[in-house]
Amino acid sequence: MQFIKNQQIRLEITDLNTDGEGIGKVDGFPFFMKDAVPGDVVTATVMRVKKNYGYARMQGLLSPSPYRVVPVCPQHKACGGCQLQTLSYEKQMEFKEKKIANNLCRIGGLSAEEVEKAREPFVGMEEPFHYRNKAQYPVGKDREGKVICGFYAGRTHSIVANTDCSLGAEENGAILRAVMEHMERYQISPYNEATGQGLVRHILIRTGFESRQVMVCLVVNLSSAEWEKYGQERLKTEALVGKLRGLSLDGDCSLTCPEDGEMIQESGKGVPDGFEKGEITRNRPGKICSIAVNLNIRRDNVIMGDECRTLWGSDTIEDRLFIRDVSNEFQRTGDFLTFKISPLSFYQVNPRQTEKLYSIALDYAALTGSETVWDLYCGIGTISLFMARRAGQICGVEVVPQAIEDARTNAALNGITNATFYVGKAEEVLPAFYKEHGNDTSLTHPDVIVVDPPRKGCDSACLDTMLQMQPDRIVYVSCDSATLARDVRYLCEGGYELRRWRGVDQFGQTVHVETVVLMSRIDTQ
Ligand code: SAH
Repeated sequence: MQFIKNQQIRLEITDLNTDGEGIGKVDGFPFFMKDAVPGDVVTATVMRVKKNYGYARMQGLLSPSPYRVVPVCPQHKACGGCQLQTLSYEKQMEFKEKKIANNLCRIGGLSAEEVEKAREPFVGMEEPFHYRNKAQYPVGKDREGKVICGFYAGRTHSIVANTDCSLGAEENGAILRAVMEHMERYQISPYNEATGQGLVRHILIRTGFESRQVMVCLVVNLSSAEWEKYGQERLKTEALVGKLRGLSLDGDCSLTCPEDGEMIQESGKGVPDGFEKGEITRNRPGKICSIAVNLNIRRDNVIMGDECRTLWGSDTIEDRLFIRDVSNEFQRTGDFLTFKISPLSFYQVNPRQTEKLYSIALDYAALTGSETVWDLYCGIGTISLFMARRAGQICGVEVVPQAIEDARTNAALNGITNATFYVGKAEEVLPAFYKEHGNDTSLTHPDVIVVDPPRKGCDSACLDTMLQMQPDRIVYVSCDSATLARDVRYLCEGGYELRRWRGVDQFGQTVHVETVVLMSRIDTQ
């Protein structure tokens, strides 16, 4: 059947594509449609027709899916950040797990039986909203010239006002409103991307979910010379600090605080008093501990510049990640790591799920205390430090020098002395190391190699050296199951096999999903 633009069709949505759009077929020909979920029956208009698929727009919902839910966020359509808010959380998890399994079969070249045999239960979130510890809101003006902040609509650069993103910490709204009031009162201009004029570009808020320390950082359009000359005056920093410190809020937020610098105490099991199963309720009070600016005069869309100035409080906030017991419902153990976080630090945005993800990686690594472990793409060393206390020695590799500086600081902060960090690309550092230290087998033939690459996966030069190093186990943490599957195939061809894998949801309401995979040498148990 031939389809033409504007044709009316009836679609039964049976699946979701990787962007979270509903898929429905007419005579076997698939159409993708936004805001439709599996189980919906809809009338739709054909928008575009390509060779093997088309796009349609929903006209009417003839029969809603039983998995359809009312989205929590009134702005979810305009924003596009949450592609799956209209789908029940149960189904979101099912969709994500299926996506991983499909990729392992289709791209990874494994049989459905092999994939199923190695599968372990998907790890969903107990609370799939308000899980992000970091938010960056662009600041602008509405049509009437009023200061607004929110998010960029879809893939555009026009700002939709929204101070209450349902993925962010609940305190954020109160903080954002305070900053906007300050800007209105002192007529401080928001940045205008088109002209490059105006002062305040973004508001960054980071929250230590464990420490409840909050950092507020305004990204301003000033060079360091300009900042020294008149920055404080332009931003009216004294009044801003006063306003933020004075935030004692009722209603939607309680930013009434513990004493300066106080960490919330944990009970013996690592669970704070009054909280069960290691979960922190989201209403625990937070405290602004750091107020800073970041200087950014770039004309592109990079959010943060290289330099920060602390206006009040500490340069960093602290947070903790607990190691969890994988075999006991992910209960927190008493073992935790402390991290110092600056406005520019990389830090995982969903700390509770990160604890689970890395605890699984630790479990897969099966450490007994003497092992040598390589942690490639190590960022600020989170996985390295998770493993360090249970291994003989750890070597981390990461391309961003600042992240390695943070990794070393964090190692020292936690009294970890058996971790060595290298700056460089994994595909360069590892082969060079192997060549140079070939006869030091304690390092070049490690027990475990962990990789946690960005979406594009591992470079083949990195995989080749990993194969030469012949670790007993490879633990692959992935944020893109398609490239994961490609690399799994490569490692299978090199003498490894898939033993265990598990999906972990770090980003509820979005299409993203993390996977942890254990591969072992075929000749090992
Ligand atoms: N495991 C880390 C972060 C993983 S994110 C953590 O949890 O903190 C992926 C990391 O890989 C990023 O820090 C990125 O800077 C780094 N990276 C990207 N390409 C790389 C390469 N070719 N070699 C080494 N590191 C790389």
